[in-house]
Amino acid sequence: MQTVIQLDQLCKRYGNTTAVDHITMQVNKGEIFGIVGPNGAGKTTLIEMLEGLRLPDSGSATVLGLDIRKHAMEIKQRIGVLLQATSMPEKAKVREVLQMFASLYHKSTDPKEISAFLGLEDKQNAFIKSLSGGWKQRVSLALALINDPEILFLDEPSMGLDPNARKEMWDMIHRLKKDGRTIVVTTHYMEEAEYLCDRIAVISHGKLVALDTPQKLISMLGGTKRISFKNAGVTGKESFAGLPFVVDVEWETDTVKLHSSQIDETLQALFRLAAEEGWMVSGLRLEDASMNDVFTEMTASGKGIAG
Ligand code: ADP
Repeated sequence: MQTVIQLDQLCKRYGNTTAVDHITMQVNKGEIFGIVGPNGAGKTTLIEMLEGLRLPDSGSATVLGLDIRKHAMEIKQRIGVLLQATSMPEKAKVREVLQMFASLYHKSTDPKEISAFLGLEDKQNAFIKSLSGGWKQRVSLALALINDPEILFLDEPSMGLDPNARKEMWDMIHRLKKDGRTIVVTTHYMEEAEYLCDRIAVISHGKLVALDTPQKLISMLGGTKRISFKNAGVTGKESFAGLPFVVDVEWETDTVKLHSSQIDETLQALFRLAAEEGWMVSGLRLEDASMNDVFTEMTASGKGIAG
């Protein structure tokens, strides 16, 4: 497997804050690599160093074999970046914006080819300001692809998109991978991370706390399952936490979710408790653990499992 990004003890500090704290990891050619973590975890700082936009304080990193300190300009020519808010001239047409961006690079793909790939042919004469959020995001993606990049960095690619536009964005990202590109994506949506990514790095307080496939990360939680039901408003959180094999309780006004390592035993105890207290267990659902649980457990407690 070919490594296209290599980080070795990479660090970035702002005053007393260590935004990126000794991160060592690698990204393989052709994979969709996710970076997840709470706000302020250091994700943006990390990818902006790889994009050549910020300099590290210590440690090292290479992108496509090029040192990020010495070859930022060359790296920029060979990567594509989808920012959260790409500023585009609102009064320009899609075709004009694509041509303008193409002229900025040594190497560029024919905007027509990219437009065909992303389904933008019918929007060539549309003004940027007339486009919906989903179409604007598609144009931003086209701009990120204009230099035919080997690595594509996507920062929150489906932020603010409606569910249909989000699915379309995921479909396009999958097709870009099939096209042989490496994709690094930061996201807040754990469903997106689980669906899209081959491997996911979980970052918390600047540190890498876990790095693996979504399936392995989920299985590291020890096979706990979730029992979700309507909150009858009778039992307190502590009583649920005291039920056998309950390892965690998610408590909301309308729903309670028990994380259990022995679902049968917990269910029996739950029904006994409800009978004793005179309420009905309703809206019962059993769920497997998901990336959401990985995110909550690994970033809330600060514990890590990365090697
Ligand atoms: P994320 O993208 O995960 O939300 P960031 O990389 O934006 O995290 O931020 C990581 C930490 O570094 C935060 O504590 C943030 O406040 C701090 N930080 C980010 N950029 C700057 C900056 N330019 N100056 C000072 N502190 C910064």
